[in-house]
This record gives sequence, C-alpha cells and structure tokens, in this order.
Amino acid sequence: MTVTTTGDLPDEVYDVAIIGAGVVGAAIARELARYRLRIALVEASNDVGNGTSKANTAILHTGFDATPGTLEARLVREGYQRLTAYAAETGIPLEPLGALLVAWDREQLAALPSLAEKAARNGYDETVILDADAVHAREPHLGPGALGALEVPGESIICPWTTTLAYATQAVRAGVDLHLNCPAGAITTGADHHEIATPRGVLRTRHLVNAAGLYSDEINRRLGHEEFTVTPRRGQLIVFDKFARGLVDHILLPVPTALGKGVLVSPTVYGNVMLGPTAEDLDDKTATGSSADGLASLREKGARILPELLEEEVTAVYAGLRAATEHGDYQIHADPGRRYVAVGGIRSTGLTASMAIAAHVAELLGDCGLDPGPEREIEPVRMPTIGEAFPRPYQRADLIAADPAYGTVVCHCERVTRGEIRDALTATVPPGSLDGIRRRTRALAGRCQGFFCGAAVRAQFEAATAAQDRTEARR
Ligand SMILES: Cc1cc2nc3c(=O)[nH]c(=O)nc-3n(C[C@H](O)[C@H](O)[C@H](O)COP(=O)(O)OP(=O)(O)OC[C@H]3O[C@@H](n4cnc5c(N)ncnc54)[C@H](O)[C@@H]3O)c2cc1C
Repeated sequence: MTVTTTGDLPDEVYDVAIIGAGVVGAAIARELARYRLRIALVEASNDVGNGTSKANTAILHTGFDATPGTLEARLVREGYQRLTAYAAETGIPLEPLGALLVAWDREQLAALPSLAEKAARNGYDETVILDADAVHAREPHLGPGALGALEVPGESIICPWTTTLAYATQAVRAGVDLHLNCPAGAITTGADHHEIATPRGVLRTRHLVNAAGLYSDEINRRLGHEEFTVTPRRGQLIVFDKFARGLVDHILLPVPTALGKGVLVSPTVYGNVMLGPTAEDLDDKTATGSSADGLASLREKGARILPELLEEEVTAVYAGLRAATEHGDYQIHADPGRRYVAVGGIRSTGLTASMAIAAHVAELLGDCGLDPGPEREIEPVRMPTIGEAFPRPYQRADLIAADPAYGTVVCHCERVTRGEIRDALTATVPPGSLDGIRRRTRALAGRCQGFFCGAAVRAQFEAATAAQDRTEARR
C-alpha cells in the first residue's frame, strides 16, 4: 500500500496516471484498480477530496431533472444506482429521505406535470404530484403559501467526505500509488508515454486521465485541446445547528431555473440542516470565501421555505466552486492518439455520478489502447461510521469494552472519541491536516467549531505526525 506525501516519485512508467484525487479521480482509480495495472493517483494538495468534493450539498440525485439524452443524465442515473449499492457495502452514510420540489406560485405549480414527465423520460417514474394540504402534512414547518409539490422519493443525502475516502482507500489497498502534495505541471507527450513535471520529479505514464476539476481546462490545453473553459460557479451554504433537525424531514428543493438547481433546505447525514447554495459565476478558482450578500440572499430565500429555521443558531458557513463550462453537459473526451482522457465540466452532480463516470472513463481508456487484462476481485472496505442515523462508537458498549479509547469523548459537540481520531490518523489514507481529521471523524465540526476540543485534537494529530516522521527518517 503506497501513499506518498514527500520525496521523489518512483522511477517507473505507470500504465495509467490520474491527475486529481477528488471524488471523480478517486472513483476512476478505484475502478481501474480492479485490473492488474500500475496506477498513479496524483493530487496537488495534501489530502484526497480537498477541492470541490469537500464542499457541496451532498445530495445523491436520482437524475430526475437532468436534460434527457445528455451524457450527464445517463451517468447520474447509473451513478445513483452504483453509489447506493456501494454505500451499503462500505458503510458510507446515506439516508433516502426523498425530496419535495415545492411550488410557491401558480407558474411553478403549472410546471410540476412537465417535471414529472421529464423525470419519466430520465427513467425515473416514481414522482408524485402533491396538493398543498399533502405538502404541509409532510412538512408541517414549511412556510405559508406552498401550493403543491413534486415528491421525488429516491433523492437521498450522503456523506461526500466518506465517499471519496472510501474510493481512495480501496484503490490504495488494491495497489494504486497515491501521490499527495504533487501538482502536475508541464506535460510532454512522447510516442510511448507522457512525462509530467512535478516538484517531486517526473512522473511517467502510458495513459493519462485528467480529473483536475476546476483546473481540468488548463491541463486539457497542455495536451493541445480547447474543448471547454471552466468558469468557477460559487455555491455558498449555511449549516444550522442540530436543534434545527426536527424542523424538516425531506430535502426541500425549489423548482429549477436556468442557473441551476436553486436554493434548497436539506438535512445532512451529520444531523444538521443546510441552506443553500448560491450560484455565482466568478473568475477566481480559489474564491471559496463566503460573502455578506450571498449569506443574506440565502437567509431571505430560507425565510420563505422554512421560517423557523432562521431562528436557529448557525454552526458554520462554507462555499464550494462548481466546475461550470460553456457547455450544458459533462466534457468527457478521449484522444486515442495521445492515450489521454479528459474529464471536465463535472458541475453539480459529480458526487452522484462518480462511479458511473469512472466506468465510462475505463471504457474510453480501452478505446485509447489500454488493455486492462482480466478483471479481479478487490478487497471490500468498511468505512468508519460518522452518520447520525447509524450507531456511533460512543454509543457502542461492545466497542468501548474492547477498547476504552472509544469511550473517551474528545469532541463533545459531535461526540467523537479518541479511538476514532487515532484510527483516522493510522488509516490507509491518513489526514494531512486538522481539516482532514474533521472530514474523517466530525471532530471540530460541531457548534463550538473546535473551541473546546481543538487543542486535544491538534495534540493527537501532532503526535501521530511526529511518529510518522520518525518512521520515515528511519527508512
Ligand atoms: C455548491 C455545490 C453543491 C453541489 N452539490 C452536489 C450534490 O448535491 N450532489 C452531487 O452529486 N454533486 C454536487 N456538486 C458537484 C460535486 O461536488 C462535483 O461535481 C464533484 O465534487 C467534482 O469532483 P472532481 O473530482 O471532478 O473535482 P475536485 O473535487 O475539485 O477534484 C479535483 C482535484 O484535482 C486536483 N488538482 C487540480 N489541479 C491539479 C494538478 N495540476 N495536479 C494535481 N492535482 C490537481 C485538485 O486539488 C482537486 O483535489 C456540488 C458542487 C458544489 C460546488
């Protein structure tokens, strides 16, 4: 098992290198790991899932509202099925709450039958049109004035952090080399292999997959392609405290507009309620800050949807950047001559579609001359339980009896134990920062945002990092 964070890259020619360890790149690595190939997953930052994949609305979409006939519609539909099954197998927190697409005026009400028809054209025929009474019966805290809704029972909430981590963990255990702190620079394509310059030396690979998210257009240009330009589309979100959870049972969606899916109110698998996202086209690919205007517009929209939510305390705000392009569909292209596949424009559905995108990319690599050989079984993974709807370690007497570290709570807001933080720090893909611990355990993510537990979590992190440094120095 190989995860590297420093030092020279191995002096070998990989069969496939994947640039970018977001949910898409990690899913591709896992998919290809089912064959006897030498694979490198190369990530610029110090962790997997550290880009757009860490900051989204975490809905597993049925694909009911996709544009029929697009690649995105097909891959979202297929990805939904694949990830639902994979979550059950690996323990990724997932709750099939269902969504209500609420109509607030006559025009939106009139649009519901055509949305139901569109869902059917996308292969999803379980939608139900509800009248105003039925909507309010399902969601008693909904604001006044809802005229009806389209119910989409299959829409689910999922943990985006565990999803990427599960893919990466399974890939690494099956032999994929994960190179972190390894930004891909200039790329030279020869007759037999690509040479990718990185600060850690040259990476050589026969086949190349570009899953660099917001930067996929820039990598694409280095390969001589101009099919798309990424415009970062910011989505700001507000996370409300767990006391708000009783106010809402479904994912409450607006009727979609041309700019996207609009502002929703949704429970999270961690027991909070989120409000967002905004949709703002920017030109800075690093602009993940929140703005007063953005948050004010969310509060205004939220006040109509669920007025009591606005009286609840806010735990956190965050923003993610969608990799929007000038096209209305995913930009997944193969260049067989260069043994190269670009995976760009994975805008607001990439978490859901990730496993289907991976299967599609594996096929395209075949068109690029990759002979994967026979498929093999890879070891299943079981991820730590961080979802609120599932028994957590602090609740399990059997675990605590076997190991008292699971009975020592470090983060009291989220009830995260010393044992869970220790496990994360010694896992196959360990965190590279305190933020990485947060995404693996929920420590620091609660209402105090680390005010009380921050020092203890940091001490555990620094002790583990020092031990790791000593081991590496002895090698
Ligand atoms: C506000 C918001 C809400 C969303 N809601 C949902 C939702 O509810 N459901 C859903 O399915 N999807 C949702 N999405 C979309 C989903 O989050 C994305 O489609 C998905 O995370 C994209 O994953 P990725 O791997 O392509 O990109 P990223 O996660 O950005 O990964 C790309 C990686 O490439 C790395 N990289 C870039 N350049 C280089 C380089 N030169 N060398 C090495 N590494 C490099 C980056 O560091 C990054 O880690 C939402 C997105 C946003 C922003």
